[in-house]
Amino acid sequence: MFSNPSSFLFAGLCGGLFLNADFLITGAGIAGLATAQKLLLQGARVILIERAALGRESSWAGGGILAPLCPWDYPDEVTRLTSLGGLLFPQWTEGLHAATGIDPEYEVSGMLVLPPFRQSVAQQWCIEHKFALQQEGDALLLPAVAQVRNPRLVQALRRHVEMLGGTVIEHCEVRSIETNKNQVRHFATTQGDLSAQRYIITAGAWSKQVLGQYALQLDIKPIRGQMLLYKFAAAPLQHIVLQEGMYLIPRRDGHLLVGSTLEDVGFDKSTTEDARASLQQRAQLVLPALKDMPVAQHWSGLRPASPGNIPTIGQHPQLQNLFLNSGHFRYGVTMAPASVEILLNELNGVAQPFDVSPYRAGWGADR
Ligand SMILES: Cc1cc2nc3c(=O)[nH]c(=O)nc-3n(C[C@H](O)[C@H](O)[C@H](O)COP(=O)(O)OP(=O)(O)OC[C@H]3O[C@@H](n4cnc5c(N)ncnc54)[C@H](O)[C@@H]3O)c2cc1C
Repeated sequence: MFSNPSSFLFAGLCGGLFLNADFLITGAGIAGLATAQKLLLQGARVILIERAALGRESSWAGGGILAPLCPWDYPDEVTRLTSLGGLLFPQWTEGLHAATGIDPEYEVSGMLVLPPFRQSVAQQWCIEHKFALQQEGDALLLPAVAQVRNPRLVQALRRHVEMLGGTVIEHCEVRSIETNKNQVRHFATTQGDLSAQRYIITAGAWSKQVLGQYALQLDIKPIRGQMLLYKFAAAPLQHIVLQEGMYLIPRRDGHLLVGSTLEDVGFDKSTTEDARASLQQRAQLVLPALKDMPVAQHWSGLRPASPGNIPTIGQHPQLQNLFLNSGHFRYGVTMAPASVEILLNELNGVAQPFDVSPYRAGWGADR
């Protein structure tokens, strides 16, 4: 449906306006990169702009577990997207690896849920949703849960986007959205005014700020998560281990991630001694070998939090050429390929795999 990228002529930044781009995507985290990749594969001409360096915010900071932590705690609107995302992930990462040579390290490592948790609710939910489970004493093993290594996934996506002819512009911040009647005319950015046929905002925790007066009732805000990293000679655990919101994620090369906090502190990305001590202490109870291990790294990221963990995907209620793919909160990596599929179905006028009205509700009542 889109014209060939080879015919993509643009004026360049010195002239102020890009010409002939089909899509201008704002925010190069996993949501923006995955959206750009799929549009490019359809033959669209895509510009992806990023305020700072590409893929260094939530999409870098996250753990890369490809399922909700306790899936039985979430509504069906979350389950549908995480399940579809989980189904699409193996082929998506395999394709990226083959195309770019960068391995996102997709791995079905399973997740062991330690007590306390709602045993009977969990079992019932797994049976109803055909989610594989094995009882391991008091613990529950979810053997189908997979993981990916976020920074590598982001690198692979960047390379693929560039190989497909996408234009990536870093250090380019959207300052305001300029409109004419019910259309976006251009985005005013720190590198000049940029225009395209259609605009997609994928700015994570900052999406509401980017939308400004056009955010309507959208309720996306930052929720900080802190993470610790350890390094072993070989993976110290066979599975991801989860206990009451604290998890340990073993990587192939012996790195071990311990996370995470949920903190409502605005756009403050600092790390704290309290969180470090608490994560260390809780992780040591699960894996005593950590007592003698130094923390190799400690970082934080800002999740794009939405009520109910339900993202907003699709067209703006008032501006016809403006779209959003954001607010995935704790599961933006897991949901990424599914969320892009929903958005592209809408753009292409293709039937959706399930009822997508909950992903429009975030704009508020006037939809
Ligand atoms: C500690 C932690 C653990 C997590 N663990 C998991 C997990 O195990 N599994 C899972 O599925 N998810 C996990 N998540 C959540 C997941 O990381 C996020 O939901 C996902 O990365 C959000 O992606 P995004 O592209 O929407 O946002 P981001 O990655 O934050 O990207 C948004 C981008 O927009 C840019 N931007 C902002 N404003 C502007 C502007 N004005 N102009 C241009 N660009 C702009 C930003 O610089 C940023 O690069 C975790 C998150 C954290 C913090």
